[in-house]
Amino acid sequence: MNHSPSVVHTRTALREALNDLPGKRGLVMTMGALHEGHLSLVTEARKHCDHVVVTVFVNPTQFAPGEDFDAYPRTLDADVAALTRAHADLVFAPSVEDVYPHGDAQVTINPGPTAQVLEGATRPTHFAGVCLVVHKVFNLIRPDVAVFGQKDAQQLAIIRQMVRDLDMGIEIVGAPIVRAEDGLALSSRNAYLSATERTQALVLSRALQAGQRAASSGKNAETIVRSAREVLASEPAADVDYVALVDPTTFLPVSRGEAVLALAAKIGTTRLIDNTVLEVNDD
Ligand code: AMP
Repeated sequence: MNHSPSVVHTRTALREALNDLPGKRGLVMTMGALHEGHLSLVTEARKHCDHVVVTVFVNPTQFAPGEDFDAYPRTLDADVAALTRAHADLVFAPSVEDVYPHGDAQVTINPGPTAQVLEGATRPTHFAGVCLVVHKVFNLIRPDVAVFGQKDAQQLAIIRQMVRDLDMGIEIVGAPIVRAEDGLALSSRNAYLSATERTQALVLSRALQAGQRAASSGKNAETIVRSAREVLASEPAADVDYVALVDPTTFLPVSRGEAVLALAAKIGTTRLIDNTVLEVNDD
């Protein structure tokens, strides 16, 4: 029998519940509408810790006006059922007021240059909002280990930098991207896609596969990016934001060694991101 995790909604209840969880503490932060990708992070966290705390919170400060904060799917009952199967110990699902009781934060985090490119170029306030909520949740939960998905590779790199630069003393673990059988990276935002759009969205993972093939056959950075772009161009429904081959830490363009091939495109009104890690061995 699976044991349901305790679900708490306020920071006071959180503090009490944390007292009942001795030992090494793992954290998985999510915005809910959970899928197997999120659950894989819980499984990963369990390997490192005695207890796993999962947050379910749609964080307003990482959305810009006009983005999908209001429309974002909120499915807490189903999320708790999924987290029961994944053996999470505690779920923290606070209100906006509980996370930001004093309104807008006056002291904020500048996530630095890595936050200005790719996702940050299109969403200039996004990573400052992410760092703010991650830092606040780290302070509320005080985890030993926190697991984040490689699906949001730039976010993972920035969180690693924040923890290092601000001496937060939390081990950050990255977990691989979980995909549907047909290759589409799982994402809560896939719920926005119609059946036709979901098929069209497969062009993202196909573009990454083309990039991987080019890398495996010793092609240079420019050719790798071009191969991915050509695949994306074959799908008229894809409105491409960027395709880039970047250093996994700085997210600046790279031409040799380990690299992240990252891309973002809109399918209809839904903005999707995906990436793959590859090795550029330019001959
Ligand atoms: P989100 O709920 O989209 O904010 O994501 C919460 C966490 O789950 C982040 O660390 C994401 O990178 C991670 N995540 C989302 N989708 C996937 C996926 N398909 N595979 C692995 N991790 C994922």
